[in-house]
Amino acid sequence: MTATPRTALTIAGSDSGGGAGIQADLRTFFANGVHGMVALTAVTVQNSLGVQGFSEIPVDVVTGQIKAVATDMGVDAAKTGMLATAEIINAVAKTLDEVHIGRTGTPFVVDPVAASMTGHALLREEALEAIRTELFPRATLITPNLDEVRLLTGVEVTGPATQREAAEALLEFGSEWVLVKGGHLDAAQDCVDLLSDGESWVELSGPRFDTRNTHGGGDTMASAITSSLAKGADVPTAVAEGKRFIERCVAESYPLGAGVGPVSPFWRLK
Ligand code: PLP
Repeated sequence: MTATPRTALTIAGSDSGGGAGIQADLRTFFANGVHGMVALTAVTVQNSLGVQGFSEIPVDVVTGQIKAVATDMGVDAAKTGMLATAEIINAVAKTLDEVHIGRTGTPFVVDPVAASMTGHALLREEALEAIRTELFPRATLITPNLDEVRLLTGVEVTGPATQREAAEALLEFGSEWVLVKGGHLDAAQDCVDLLSDGESWVELSGPRFDTRNTHGGGDTMASAITSSLAKGADVPTAVAEGKRFIERCVAESYPLGAGVGPVSPFWRLK
């Protein structure tokens, strides 16, 4: 018998192409030595060219999955990805309270997924407000990219000053920490992410790789951070580890299909 590994739960959607969503989360948990569990929220129909549509899972099935694993197997850290509707978000928030995931309990990462990089909506419009009011106050960490920052706060990040302004605006919604990812900023520069809890301000700088194959990058980074939190790291350490992890995954991304290929955690297994 082997010692039981730490566990992480992803509450997110499926990507039929296998590069993002729960598929990215599970392979990232696995690559980081963490047992991954899933509460599926939606099934997307997609390939490397984009998302063709999605269907959400009935709300009681979403919350049932969370309760089933949390009450029996235990959750050392959790994350959300695609949540699809306000109804699912509201029900997930209530269930997380019941099983003590979030803010004061189990570390909880909210990746506020709104659209794919190909511009397809992954969230019904009215759900953005529910992410702000129901999920952010419960989150240990939120990890928006610049498009999500603009949707959530109206702040257009163009450099360090507006990145800080965005972080301050996001912290107002009540999460403990915010990571404003700068990956979509000026392509000529390094990727600089800004992490803050309102008191400490940490700039994490890393190389930018010349590849179009970045599908699943946001999910993979949030899952890597969640893996580190599951193993007991504090937030700044987990984010630094997540950043190093995603850099290698982008460096080792591969072409697949006629569109955007996925980032890859395979290097960890070599
Ligand atoms: N599909 C699902 C189910 C996702 O959760 C996400 C992102 O979170 C995407 C697609 C989009 O991924 P990307 O923007 O990296 O292409």
